[in-house]
Amino acid sequence: MTDTFLAKGKRKKLVDELRTKGIKDEEVLRAINTVPRHEFMDPAFLHHAYTDKAFPISSGQTISQPYTVAIQTSLLNVKKRDKILEIGTGSGYQCAVLAEMGAKVYTIERHRELFILAQRTLISLGYSADFFYGDGYEGKPRYGPFDGIVITAATPEIPEKLQYQLKIGGRMVVPVGDSSSQVMTLVIRSGEADFEYSSHGAFVFVPMLKGTVNNQM
Ligand code: SAH
Repeated sequence: MTDTFLAKGKRKKLVDELRTKGIKDEEVLRAINTVPRHEFMDPAFLHHAYTDKAFPISSGQTISQPYTVAIQTSLLNVKKRDKILEIGTGSGYQCAVLAEMGAKVYTIERHRELFILAQRTLISLGYSADFFYGDGYEGKPRYGPFDGIVITAATPEIPEKLQYQLKIGGRMVVPVGDSSSQVMTLVIRSGEADFEYSSHGAFVFVPMLKGTVNNQM
């Protein structure tokens, strides 16, 4: 499938909708207007790709709702060449939005099937990122420290190890809560052992789970 005028038109409408919902970061809106979200979903669901909803992908997971991607990316305050670690590659859509903004993205997925599929999609669209199959709770200390860390799965508490993979001044965006609802939490590492926390609304994500799933296709 390729990008079409129809898809471009639908994307522009989606961006207008995100604006009315309060998204202000022009670079985030530009990236969402550019990345063809339908390429990250089963072709049967083309018509769902540009509604502001999460949607099922392989391995029983979901592609995040565009509004959620927009909020998480805005809170990260991404600048060109920032080093961003993403936990939960999933479809690869959030990763592509970050890459479109000029970030150097490191992304970890615990399902082997998604790890493979997402790489394929990103490559076919001409985006580059570093993909890892593994447990995101460990982070990627060898590649850090990071300007930003985005966790795209729900965790009952802020993963301690990941906080320490931030640069001083770095930001981590993580949905914290139980399985029914989570609070979008922004963590700013303000000093060697100092962290500032703020809350940014309620969301629902699939859970962040330990270990890996070797569900090769
Ligand atoms: N960012 C994705 C959203 C995917 S949903 C997108 O844009 O499509 C969350 C993903 O997190 C799922 O694919 C799930 O398998 C993955 N995940 C959950 N726990 C994880 C962990 N500990 N390490 C890495 N990935 C994890």
